[in-house]
Amino acid sequence: MSDETSVKAPESGAGSGQSGESRPSGGGGYQGNRPAGAPRPAGGPGGRGKFFRRKKVCKFCTEKIDAIPYRDVRLLQGFVAERGKIVPRRLTGVCTTHQRRLTRAIKQARNIALLPFAARH
Ligand SMILES: [Zn+2]
Repeated sequence: MSDETSVKAPESGAGSGQSGESRPSGGGGYQGNRPAGAPRPAGGPGGRGKFFRRKKVCKFCTEKIDAIPYRDVRLLQGFVAERGKIVPRRLTGVCTTHQRRLTRAIKQARNIALLPFAARH
């Protein structure tokens, strides 16, 4: 005869001691006070090749071009994207000085319709 002592321990049902306390409805909503996100990582050499990786030396400096000829469309087109946008300096490697001159030259070239302002859709 097995003598299993299975003691049923009925937990004494002293359950909820809380009798209907209404929660204090406090408007403690913290909204919009987010901490400023992580600072941007300083631009490393990412090198994602959307454009060609060009020489990181300014073309105009190497060729000693001081004034950029705005009539030289072929030259300018190398610094204008397909849609007519000027390619930013970090992609072309042109130095700041020459980029500014280049920008002017491109705008002049646009004015005399050598270069498109923007692509038409
Ligand atoms: Zn330069």
